[in-house]
Amino acid sequence: MPQNRSLKGIAVAPGLAVGPVHIVRAALDEVPTWFVREDEVPLEIGRLAGALMGVSEVLAQQEARVAKEAGPKDAAIFAVHRAILEDPGALRDVEKTIRDTRVNAEAAVQKLIEHLERTLGGLDGNNLRGYAADVSDPWRRVLDMLLDRDREEVHRSNGRVVLAASELTPQVVTYLPRERILAVICEKGGRFSHGAVLARSLGLTCVIGVPNLLGRLEQNMPVAVDGVLGTVTLYPSEEDLARFGEEEQLRRTRAEAVAGFAAEPCQSSCGKRFVAQANVESLLDLETFDVAHTDGIGLLRTEFLYMERNQFPSEEEQYRLYRRVLEQMGGRPVTMRTLDIGGDKPLPYFKTPPEKNPALGWRGLRISLQWTDLLRVQMSALLRASVHGDLRILLPMVGTLEQIDEARRVFDGVRSQLAAQGYDVAADVPVGVMIEVPSLLFCLEAVLERVDFVSVGTNDLVQYLLAVDRDNAWVAGLYEPMQPPVLAALERVAETARRVGKPCSVCGDIAADAVTALLLAGLGFDGVSVAPQFLGELKYALRSASAAEARDFAQAARRLGTAKEVRAHLAERRRALHNRLGGAAAKG
Ligand code: PEP
Ligand code: MG
Repeated sequence: MPQNRSLKGIAVAPGLAVGPVHIVRAALDEVPTWFVREDEVPLEIGRLAGALMGVSEVLAQQEARVAKEAGPKDAAIFAVHRAILEDPGALRDVEKTIRDTRVNAEAAVQKLIEHLERTLGGLDGNNLRGYAADVSDPWRRVLDMLLDRDREEVHRSNGRVVLAASELTPQVVTYLPRERILAVICEKGGRFSHGAVLARSLGLTCVIGVPNLLGRLEQNMPVAVDGVLGTVTLYPSEEDLARFGEEEQLRRTRAEAVAGFAAEPCQSSCGKRFVAQANVESLLDLETFDVAHTDGIGLLRTEFLYMERNQFPSEEEQYRLYRRVLEQMGGRPVTMRTLDIGGDKPLPYFKTPPEKNPALGWRGLRISLQWTDLLRVQMSALLRASVHGDLRILLPMVGTLEQIDEARRVFDGVRSQLAAQGYDVAADVPVGVMIEVPSLLFCLEAVLERVDFVSVGTNDLVQYLLAVDRDNAWVAGLYEPMQPPVLAALERVAETARRVGKPCSVCGDIAADAVTALLLAGLGFDGVSVAPQFLGELKYALRSASAAEARDFAQAARRLGTAKEVRAHLAERRRALHNRLGGAAAKG
């Protein structure tokens, strides 16, 4: 009897899926190598050319399909991959390997892939590894084509499958048409990798960071994937499947019941308003929610606009993009964060140096202040767009007061320059900072003197407070936002901001949990910003309690000594909310 095992990974995109695994061998361990006679060399070079042409055609088809399903920006990566294959230098290298060492085309392509991964991926840091994956991925496709892998078989069949791969890349996510993919599960990849963005855009259930996943799978093995809990269950038993079915039914009923709340104002039962904004990661996200259901955009990660192309966007391109978002939001506030690349968010065309500790290295505002031209161009585009809506600018990865002063100097300089050039700029463009580097917790008054608002980035704040890498599956169990010191930090931010009368919110992922959002309201935050699909449940939870009840709920959490106790406190509330919802749904 096969062993039933539940593997824990990192949840990337929600949903439940049960089905057979299809392993995408995007990372091949062994490639057959054989020697070819001299007269066979042209044949091998011909096979290589045929495979290259075949892959280019498939990429073009994928580009067209993704453009239709997800939009042209998400499809652009396939054009980049085609361009990588057209690089004459790489092709010359592979042909030379075939000719000089008389090996088959597969082995020569594998040699190139290894070279790319050694020189790029061997460098430390998720960002560079991600870049290496992007550059070598199209060549893996050529290898796959040459090896005539089982793709043809899976393409010919009609069943839906759970795609399993070593690393979450755009190729994996689009390996099959959307309707054939039940879920995507991977060993590696960043929560904000390009593949993750695409998985969310396409609405695929996705779990990553499952250690040794491929070693435990075999082709067609039945699995059950939970994109909320971040689990993959191998050989689910009858009981597992029954539980899964119940959970699915429950989630569907709940989702239907809370959907109605999305259109309601976000406020406590006593009428106190709580700001509910949306996080936006790509332009496509803007099409997925009703603007009228939000209090604006609380976090627009502009780096994703940079990541979805193959060179830095010009000021004009940025201006048009920012203007479009502001106009689309119809006068609602739009908080655009300046470029936050580095760490786990690489740009394929901007190589950052190898770093031992990328999360502690050259990223966010640190890059912008060193490459001030980048910041100037972005600020200029933002300020020019400011007349088309209600723009706020947010600075990421701030750790010192000097950085705020410096960024403000750039901001003021750009504003004066635009005025001198005759551009219109909104009279008031608030500037805020992300609270995600713990040093700011100890100079909050001085921070708040310098900025108009703060937004807590708990994704990073938790990793830095607890010294736990947010993308490392091996320490995922230690990444615990409900640790009492994290709550103490959050309370400190909310209390200080309140005292000095400046707005404060949370845009990190913890706020997407409705009960945690209630806790944040009780701690004194003015609002949160979450992925739009969570707004209905969030409003439902907030509307279930008066402001005083939310405060009591938060204070009770603050008196608890361990994360386990805090979680239990939240779970109790969640159960009560779900029960009420069940009743409401039944009555409705
Ligand atoms: C955060 O750190 O919480 C945050 C919102 O920023 P990002 O996840 O983009 O680092
Ligand atoms: Mg962050």
